[in-house]
Amino acid sequence: MMIEKSPEGIRKILEILISEGYEAYLVGGCVRDRLLGFEPKDYDVTTNAKPHDVVKCFRDYRVIETGIKHGTVTVICEGEQCEITTFRTDGVYTDNRHPDNVTFSDDLASDLSRRDFTVNSMAWGQNGLVDLFGGEADLKNGVIRAVGESEKRFSEDALRIMRALRFSSRFGFEIEKETAVGMRKCAHLLENIARERIFSELVGIVMGKSAFSVTRDFADILSFAVGKTTPVSDYLALDSDVRLAALFSQNTDAIKSLKTSRTTENTVAYLIENADSLLPEDIPSAQRFIRRHGYELALKLCLLRADKEAYTKVTDVKRAHLPSRIYDLAVRGNDIILAGYSGAQVSRALEIALDGVISGECRNRKKDILEYIDSKKDGI
Ligand code: ATP
Ligand code: MG
Repeated sequence: MMIEKSPEGIRKILEILISEGYEAYLVGGCVRDRLLGFEPKDYDVTTNAKPHDVVKCFRDYRVIETGIKHGTVTVICEGEQCEITTFRTDGVYTDNRHPDNVTFSDDLASDLSRRDFTVNSMAWGQNGLVDLFGGEADLKNGVIRAVGESEKRFSEDALRIMRALRFSSRFGFEIEKETAVGMRKCAHLLENIARERIFSELVGIVMGKSAFSVTRDFADILSFAVGKTTPVSDYLALDSDVRLAALFSQNTDAIKSLKTSRTTENTVAYLIENADSLLPEDIPSAQRFIRRHGYELALKLCLLRADKEAYTKVTDVKRAHLPSRIYDLAVRGNDIILAGYSGAQVSRALEIALDGVISGECRNRKKDILEYIDSKKDGI
């Protein structure tokens, strides 16, 4: 049933490999997601065909060979992109992340045993599910459990610790006791993991449905990756900037150390620094709030405090096109210059005009604004 329900292109890829005499299975995340009833976001295929044989099988298709050294060939078939990886076992790990070498193998079992968690180590082939580690039961019971001896698996690749937390948060699954023990024993190895990888797992953790319990119960582990964290409430909007700002509310430096994009770094840092701002209670204060923070950041600040009413006030200002920035005024700098002001007076006059318009003392019409400015000229 699993294969029939897969996209046309993926079915074709399996058929081609099988018709060439190879074994081929759907594997990993796509099998897990399917069993959970979700549409997988991508499909992985595992096969006993060696990478160069895979390339040969798909000579009539677009093939991307970037991962070929590790046994992965990407094939695009009927618009569907699929990673085809040769059965392999991983060699020794010396950097807590990448195997020093990979060895291709002839049997599915060894390929499944190198995978991280039982729920990620299932395959689906012509004869149905291949589940060597009890993944289906763990999926049913909502359990994340390492394949094999947990401490060994996490010391081979410490990123798996973050992956465990991410899957636990995303699916609302418990982390099995021995697995959690292994994670804690190896948590110090997270210091060796690339900051970019830590960051992307962290986003998955804070955006998951069990963000709160995971960030509360595993703060000790997270501290090795990013320092002090604060539990993220499940009631917060699903906005990664907002959730990261909540996570790092007592540790602004963490976001700076994570090598994320400049925009994300600046946004999250800004949200943390302004987290205590007084939120708008009425329309004029919402206009001033936007004036001070900009519309996008104003919204995120309301989300960070989970203040629905303040959020609505901010969106109301936007929807009604009420003035909140200098740009919204019915005059331009040039009009002020023509009225006889110059230099720094111009921007001061515009700010005073905006104050007047927001407070309702002045209508947002050129004539009214120029009169208003004239009445305030002593302060300009
Ligand atoms: P997602 O939905 O986030 O893509 P996924 O399970 O598909 O989840 P991928 O990173 O796409 O995760 O990896 C595909 C499969 O490769 C996993 O299901 C797992 O079997 C295996 N895998 C990925 N990363 C590791 C790792 N660090 N250690 C061991 N196995 C891994
Ligand atoms: Mg995947």
